[in-house]
Amino acid sequence: MKEIVWSNTKINTLISCPRKFQLQYLDRIKKPSKGDPLCIGSGFGKALEEFSYNDKLTLTQLMQIYDTEALDHPAVISKANIRAHRYLVSQYFSDPKNVIKPAILNGKPMVEYKLEFKVDGIKFLGYIDIVSSKGFIVDYKTAKNPYTQKDLEPFSEKGMQLTSYALGYYERFGRIPKVGFQVVIKTNPIVVQRLTSHRTMDDIKKMKSKIIECDNYIKTRTNFNRYRSYKCKFCAYHGQECTK
Ligand code: SF4
Repeated sequence: MKEIVWSNTKINTLISCPRKFQLQYLDRIKKPSKGDPLCIGSGFGKALEEFSYNDKLTLTQLMQIYDTEALDHPAVISKANIRAHRYLVSQYFSDPKNVIKPAILNGKPMVEYKLEFKVDGIKFLGYIDIVSSKGFIVDYKTAKNPYTQKDLEPFSEKGMQLTSYALGYYERFGRIPKVGFQVVIKTNPIVVQRLTSHRTMDDIKKMKSKIIECDNYIKTRTNFNRYRSYKCKFCAYHGQECTK
């Protein structure tokens, strides 16, 4: 059994369907990536990142960054679809209140901040979208509908990402940070939603236990169960490697 470097995505995949985890991360059966949503998110993220380094960038320059990143992305399916989403970037940067100022560490903005840590020798890797100048961990999202408080809960499907980052941050800096999402809702005009929460020492301990539990699970199994759900119809293995 190969060593797994855990991430929040891997933990969520294992929880939602062990068979999918096996196909994707143990058998390493590759599938085409998500296409345009991935490219749009990547272009938007790149513009945000560059703006964090230089807040004098004009809207035109930011749009050029979006175009370069999104349209040249290897997963592009429809360039027209990517261009149709330019309004997200344009409207977001048109209102300075939307933009979060990053903390500076060793002279660098804490954007796409890499967190690598170990729990009982088990490796975990994550990238925090931004650590704000106020010490918040913020993850950017784009969504069709607003997030709810439930999405922030420490072990909900979405909220666990923030808990894992809080654990990594605690391991690195010895302090539990506040956490939150900034969600760009894809209406026209866009709505920008901010949701904040906190994590406790109990959450940090539970997150460690969850990582250990997931690692033990895959090391002690040869058969990985299928968990059927509405997600099957979005699963790349549906009707292919997972036929029954
Ligand atoms: S199709 Fe459903 S049961 Fe099969 S691997 Fe995907 S998520 Fe799991």
